[in-house]
Amino acid sequence: MRKFVYHFNEGSKEMKYLLGGKGANLAEMTNIGLPVPPGFTITTEACKDYNDHNQILSDDIYAEMMTHLQILEQETGKKFGDATNPLLISVRSGAPFSMPGMMDTILNLGLNDLSVQGLENATNDARSSYDCYRRFIQMFGDVVYNIPSYRFEQALTDLKNENDYTLDTQLTATDLQKLINTYKDLYISVSGREFPQNPFEQLRLSITAVFDSWENPRAAIYRRLHHIDNQLGTAVNIQSMVFGNTGESSGTGIAFTRNPSTGENLFFGEYLLNAQGEDVVAGIRTPEPISHLEDTMPEVYQKLLDVAALLELHYLDMQDIEFTIEKGELFVLQTRTGKRTAQAAINIAVDLVHEGKLSKEDAIMRIDTSQIDQLLHPSFDEASLKATTSLATGLPASPGAATGQIYFNAEDAVLAAERGEKAILVRNETSPEDIEGMAKSVAILTAHGGMTSHAAVVARGMGKCCVAGCDAIAIDESQKTLQTATFTLTEGDFLSLNGSTGKVYLGQIPLVESEIGGHFEELMSWVNEAKKLVVRVNADSPNDLEVGVHFGAEGVGLCRTEHMFFQDDRITYVRQMIIAETLEERLIALAHLKEMQKADFAGIFRVANGKPVNIRLLDPPLHEFLPKTTQDIEKLAGELGKPVVELKQRVQDLGETNPMLGHRGCRLAITFPEIYIMQAEAIMESAIQIHDEGIAVFPEIMVPLVSSKEEIAIIKKQLKEAIQTIFRREQLVLPFDIGTMIEIPRACVTADEIAEEAQFFSFGTNDLTQLTFGFSRDDANKFLYAYQEQKILPIDPFQSIDQKGVGALVTTAVQRGRMTNPALKMGVCGEHGGDPASIHFFHKLGLQYVSCSPYRIPIARIAAAQASILEERQEKVMV
Ligand code: ADP
Ligand code: MG
Ligand code: MG
Repeated sequence: MRKFVYHFNEGSKEMKYLLGGKGANLAEMTNIGLPVPPGFTITTEACKDYNDHNQILSDDIYAEMMTHLQILEQETGKKFGDATNPLLISVRSGAPFSMPGMMDTILNLGLNDLSVQGLENATNDARSSYDCYRRFIQMFGDVVYNIPSYRFEQALTDLKNENDYTLDTQLTATDLQKLINTYKDLYISVSGREFPQNPFEQLRLSITAVFDSWENPRAAIYRRLHHIDNQLGTAVNIQSMVFGNTGESSGTGIAFTRNPSTGENLFFGEYLLNAQGEDVVAGIRTPEPISHLEDTMPEVYQKLLDVAALLELHYLDMQDIEFTIEKGELFVLQTRTGKRTAQAAINIAVDLVHEGKLSKEDAIMRIDTSQIDQLLHPSFDEASLKATTSLATGLPASPGAATGQIYFNAEDAVLAAERGEKAILVRNETSPEDIEGMAKSVAILTAHGGMTSHAAVVARGMGKCCVAGCDAIAIDESQKTLQTATFTLTEGDFLSLNGSTGKVYLGQIPLVESEIGGHFEELMSWVNEAKKLVVRVNADSPNDLEVGVHFGAEGVGLCRTEHMFFQDDRITYVRQMIIAETLEERLIALAHLKEMQKADFAGIFRVANGKPVNIRLLDPPLHEFLPKTTQDIEKLAGELGKPVVELKQRVQDLGETNPMLGHRGCRLAITFPEIYIMQAEAIMESAIQIHDEGIAVFPEIMVPLVSSKEEIAIIKKQLKEAIQTIFRREQLVLPFDIGTMIEIPRACVTADEIAEEAQFFSFGTNDLTQLTFGFSRDDANKFLYAYQEQKILPIDPFQSIDQKGVGALVTTAVQRGRMTNPALKMGVCGEHGGDPASIHFFHKLGLQYVSCSPYRIPIARIAAAQASILEERQEKVMV
């Protein structure tokens, strides 16, 4: 027969799937000799059995449970439901993963009108006995009969008011007996059922209520948010009660072996005297700091310290411990690995290495990369945040928190910033013309666009908070209003954004700056030793690059030249270049642009200081640069001395039905070779200039959107000729590479041919994802959420690489590329270069580097180190 019930001394910490986290750790603590009140665990398998049989607890499981209850009676020398010395128990839920406060626990079970007198006899303490009874009736009513707990709280408060008491502890035994009667009446009036006097009925109903609590809505939501499997089920722990509510030498509390917010190696915690269960967290009375216990009960304090030290050494991590003191005797009721801030996580891991308890690799593996964002950006003040309601939720496009006043176009945002205000730029979507407004704002909010929309990409590059695709708000840019179902905001109103969660809040929320300090640098030096992947930065300006280098970037993986084109002083020349109808006209514009680009590149080469710099030649659809409004067209016509009608016509001619699939990328160079030639010249001439300044330079010239070997062959020949001419003229030869961005499925499949012409491949996984799925990356948010809900896709493929489809294409390209060109350098420059799961995938493929936006570099470095440590460990298991 299957075993469904385990006494605490039969389990261990490894059995958390079967016994739940709480049960497994209670078993572990029992076995290492800690003072844990005896008890047993009904397994998660029993929960599944219960759910598989229409919520009926099988006779076999019940009988097995009864056997363990009898053992418990022998262990404690008390009898369940007894009228002289009753055994009281707690019924505690406990899933394989901690779901704090999500499920239910009942204390003091086994009390009824008779056994409460037995308890009074045995303890000689009427007050605490009736206190236990009223607590039990309250918890049982809440958990089992769904009587709202505020009804009980209200009755309690009324009674205190009647007697002019301020504290629960002032209630006398007689008061409590009165309260118990009121509670019993509540059972009848609210649930129509009497409080059950039979302890076995109480027990059965409580066990099934805990099983049922697995399915309660708040638990289900919590599981969804934390990606916890719905099938796991919860265990039920039955444990003999100890009493913290028996006077001033008793109490209950919570302790952390180290400070969970700073990581400091100092015992930390709170307790309440004469209290039970969750009184500490309920905020009814203000708890005492744990250090007071040292003064009032020094022996108990010392015991608690010993327990903490032992548990930490045993689990080799910071522990969160729940304890109760009964008449000067300490009991441990729970231990688990404590939740902590990102800063504390790093400090604790590094300290444990210093203390000789952990290896450097283990310390790295402990770091939760999803927490690291916390460290690099400011966040909202916790208390103020709790007092605010969120207005809407969009995509968490670029992390960090910001609070400021809203403006509906770039110019207004710039003006506001110049007045010293904190501006939030609110747009339906941003376009390159908004760059300055974006740069001057503290945050960006868009109603449309996805994780790789213009707003998202640019904001991430700037390390600026951005919530994109927030379609619960309607923005009227001309009327300058922002509307939700319930609110209308206008220019200058305050809004707060959390770019890490996508949440939008009404009004101002104070920010707390986060600062990387403590042991971060030390941990990162271990990360560098462990990782194999090089981590580069996507940087379009010397500024971005500086931030990247500060965070440890080892080169530039993607410098997008078009972002340089959008700057105010040069957009006119760019437009002139595009609308040029003759080669002569175009060459004039290009000559201007070349000088500007040379200065841009020189700035980047200087900061790169010898690190490789991958520069992508002009990529986007040309129409993105064109003037859109009549006003803009008239202005440009004036600047270029062209008739307005003619310009309008030209702009219309250049329009495309499907620009994403249109005249962009290397297709531009096939029709207008002079554009890429100009860029290659600008790159090499500035490289020579920097070289002459005594700074090493290594440019990589990247041709985007290649789909065939012939394209790259033709373009490479032209670029090489132009570069050779410069070398001859300057009497100098510098090393450089020419390669391709791999972002079209056909390029992956014909990568063996392309690799004969390319010196490197850089996987542009944004476009590759877009083209593999046929999902427009700017519109996919309109349906991707449904794909995730219906489990068609486990994740947003623009956030984490789709290993099965897009990943297979990348794998093909890697294999084919190496076949014909073993020296081929390969890396990733898409957004996926900063996503931990994707980084693990790229590591396994044996790519040389990943590249990501500046603020994601620490995350990418840690993920790269974790990937290589994991691989080494798996290899060890294999041999
Ligand atoms: P949660 O999972 O919500 O933390 P627990 O099962 O840990 O719920 O129970 C909450 C609190 O109830 C514990 O921290 C402890 O103070 C109290 N408690 C639980 N079981 C017992 C017991 N056997 N004796 C005394 N107090 C208990
Ligand atoms: Mg709780
Ligand atoms: Mg607990």
